[in-house]
Amino acid sequence: MKNEPQKALYIPHARLLDPANGRDEQGALFVDAEGRLAPVPAKLPPAARLTVIDRPGLVVTPGLCDVHVHFRDPGATDAEDLLSGAAAAANGGFTRVVTMPNTNPPTDTPDLVRRARAAQTPVSIFPSACATLGRAGKVCAPLEALEEAGAVAFSDDGAMVADPEVMRVVMLRAKKLGRPVMDHAVLPRLQDGGVVRDCPAARALGLPLFPPEAEVEAVRADIALCRATGCALHLQHLSCAESVDLVRQARAEGLPVTAEATPHHLALAAEDIPGNDGNWRMNPPLGTRADVQALRQGVLEGTLTVFATDHAPHAPATKNKGFQAAPFGIIGLETAVAVTWDVMVRQCGMAPLAWAAAWVTAPNALIGLPPPTLAPGAPAELAILAPDDEWVVDPARSASKSANTPWAGQTLHGRAIATYRRGRLRAPAL
Ligand SMILES: [Zn+2]
Repeated sequence: MKNEPQKALYIPHARLLDPANGRDEQGALFVDAEGRLAPVPAKLPPAARLTVIDRPGLVVTPGLCDVHVHFRDPGATDAEDLLSGAAAAANGGFTRVVTMPNTNPPTDTPDLVRRARAAQTPVSIFPSACATLGRAGKVCAPLEALEEAGAVAFSDDGAMVADPEVMRVVMLRAKKLGRPVMDHAVLPRLQDGGVVRDCPAARALGLPLFPPEAEVEAVRADIALCRATGCALHLQHLSCAESVDLVRQARAEGLPVTAEATPHHLALAAEDIPGNDGNWRMNPPLGTRADVQALRQGVLEGTLTVFATDHAPHAPATKNKGFQAAPFGIIGLETAVAVTWDVMVRQCGMAPLAWAAAWVTAPNALIGLPPPTLAPGAPAELAILAPDDEWVVDPARSASKSANTPWAGQTLHGRAIATYRRGRLRAPAL
């Protein structure tokens, strides 16, 4: 890993994508020794004080922001901790992440929020905090104190706040704070122990089915409460075509609803599940091909405005027990650029600038932060990407402590090769 704080950075040729300024152009990029973006000087610094990254096909964007990661710290640091999760994020092109509060103990105290916020890691951690005490869904958490401590959003992710009366209180209090409620929209009574959508593998293995209504009815209920309270609602990891329809209608109505699409739900369908492999188990589960198409369309038309990984590490011993016994979730930070660029830009024709908006401006707007930009004078916070690179996913080389990815052993196209943040270039793959 290179870590060279005193050097200037010069990228002579790249496609520069700056969604905050609507800028998509070929150009050169220069970062001075103080870590600020600046015009390329007439005379470059001497080689000893300059890092040059010059490769064909580079794309530079502001640092990516993932509003949905699980770093398991405290509670399951054998699977991930703040440092390993942040290292995986930086490898993937991210400079900011929002951690989910389903830690153990749950992040429902100001101390735990402050601890995550203060962690010295290679990405900036903006913690979310529990919506309800202990994520139990019964009593609203102390949102005001959690926000004061640095929580940027509230969520019981991993579980829905299923009681509408409790959710109403959460949303009214979050609205007063100007903070969004992020919901894992899955109704437990309709999920009813289901683990997978109907597909050949589910039938072959006799797995309990997770009906699409479990998500769709949850989305409908959440949107009704958004309408009633006026609180910003962010729907996490949507997987069903009908959910996309509901979000489209809600946004057309003018409701403050946003929704995210994960790389795995955009790329994979239930029928792709190869067999009894726990690395294909996630919540919500993979949908049908028609669902995948609807999610892609939802991104292209601007209904689903945010990409997010739902990076969910689990120690190999827990994930290698077969589909029925494995916990839900997959890692995704280091494969996110490849999968979303390949599926959305290369296959679906999404404009690269819109792609960058879904990873930079929309997620930052959601959590109330000014996004990083490529404007001269700004502190450089960058993702340096090589969308044409081919590489084989080897979980053993991941910075994550976990290996639970359905892309293990597969060749992907595109990756982040470096990030730059707070005066430091981090380029493990250069
Ligand atoms: Zn979730």
